[in-house]
Amino acid sequence: MPSLSVIGDDLKVELPSGEAVRFAHLDYAASAPCVQAAADAIQDLLPRYGSVHRGAGIRSRSSTVAYELARDVVAEFTGARPGDTVIFTRNTTDALNLLARALPPGTTTVQFDGEHHANLLPWPNPVRLPVPASPSALGDALRAALATITGPVVLTVTGASNVTGEVWPVRELADIAHAHGARVVVDAAQLAPHRPIDLGDLGADYVAFSGHKLYAPFGAGVLAGRADWLDAAAPYLAGGGAVTAVGDRPGDLTWATGAARHEGGTPNLLGAVALAAVCEALLAADRTALHDHEQHLLARLRAGLATVPAAAEVSLFGPDHPRVGIVSLALPGHDPAEVAERLGREHGIGVRAGQFCAHPLTRRLSGADRTGSCGDGTPGLLRVSFGLGSTGEDIDRLTAGLRAALTPQ
Ligand code: PMP
Repeated sequence: MPSLSVIGDDLKVELPSGEAVRFAHLDYAASAPCVQAAADAIQDLLPRYGSVHRGAGIRSRSSTVAYELARDVVAEFTGARPGDTVIFTRNTTDALNLLARALPPGTTTVQFDGEHHANLLPWPNPVRLPVPASPSALGDALRAALATITGPVVLTVTGASNVTGEVWPVRELADIAHAHGARVVVDAAQLAPHRPIDLGDLGADYVAFSGHKLYAPFGAGVLAGRADWLDAAAPYLAGGGAVTAVGDRPGDLTWATGAARHEGGTPNLLGAVALAAVCEALLAADRTALHDHEQHLLARLRAGLATVPAAAEVSLFGPDHPRVGIVSLALPGHDPAEVAERLGREHGIGVRAGQFCAHPLTRRLSGADRTGSCGDGTPGLLRVSFGLGSTGEDIDRLTAGLRAALTPQ
C-alpha cells in the first residue's frame, strides 16, 4: 500500500544553546511535507519518463499511460461523475483562474469575504458578501444575494478556511445555490488534505486543490468538474496539445475538447503522478484515524493555549465549529512576525505570521486595536497548522515557546 509516512520528519535544527532538536513543522497549511507515496511514484518514473502525448517510443508511451492513470485516480479522489473533466493545473490558484476564464459571458460570481485571495480575485462580476457572525446566517445571506441576480451565477466558496481552519457548510450552501440555478465551485486547497472532497457529497460542480498542500511536491494542482463550460471556453493555454488541427490561415483550427483543451504545452508528468499517488494513499487510508489524530492535536493545542493568556484563538463561527488542523492566534500587544521569528530561532518551530493571502478576513479577525506588522501596517495573526506527521510533542513545544515569547521578561 502506498505509504503516508512523512519524509524528512527527523530534520534537526540547532538552538542558540547548541542543543539540536527536531524541527517542529507547524506550517502545513502553507506547504505540507512530502509523503513516501509521492517520492516512490517519482522515483519509479525518473529512470524511464518521456514526453506525455508526444512520441511513439516506449518512454513516451508509458509516460502517457502513467499521466492518464494519474488522472483516473484523481477522478476517483474527487468523486468525478461520468462526463466530468479532470484538468491538471499548476496549483489551486491556476485551477480557479482557469475556471474563472471559462465562465459563460455575463456570469455573476458570488463569494463571501473570508476567502483566500486565490478564490477572491480571479472571478468576474463579483458580488462579495460579508461573512455573518453565525454559520446559520450564511444560507440566508446567500439566498438574499441570489434573489437579486439574474443570468448565470456561480457561487465560489472555500471548503476550509486557510486562516481559521473552519470547515464551511458547503453542502448546505450548494443546495441553496442550486435551487437558484447557480453552479458551485469549492476551493478545496485546505479541505483536501484533511477531509474527503467528493464532488457529489459536497454538492459541488467544481473542485480545485493543490498538490503541495496534499503531501506531494510543488507544481501540480487539479480542477475537476462539469465539462460543458470548459469545453465551450477558449483554451486556457493555447498551444500544442490544446488543438487537434491547425490550417494555413490564422483562425483555421480545431481546438481539442476535454482536459487537453486547457492543458496546452508539455504537462508536468512527475507532479501529476506524485499528486495522484497521495490521492491513492489517502483513498486507501483510515480517514477516521487521520481525523482523530488531528482533532487530538487540536484539543491539545487548545489546552496548551489556555496557559498562554496573551494568545487568543480567532474564529469566524466560534471555537466549537468543526475545523481542520489550522488555528490562527491574535497576540494583543505583540508583533506576530517577531513572535514567529523567535519561535523559529529559539525553539526550532516553524509557524507563519501575517495575513495569509486573505486580507479582508485577517483584517477583521486581527482587529484594528492590535499590534503587528504585515508590511502595510495592518495587524496580523500567527498561524499554527499541522497534519499527518505532526505530534503532541510539536504542539507542547509550541505552547512552551509561545509562553516564553509572550511573557514579559
Ligand atoms: N485557497 C486556499 C484556501 C489556500 O489556503 C491557498 C494557499 N494558501 C490557495 C487557495 C492557493 O493555493 P496555491 O498557492 O497552491 O495556488
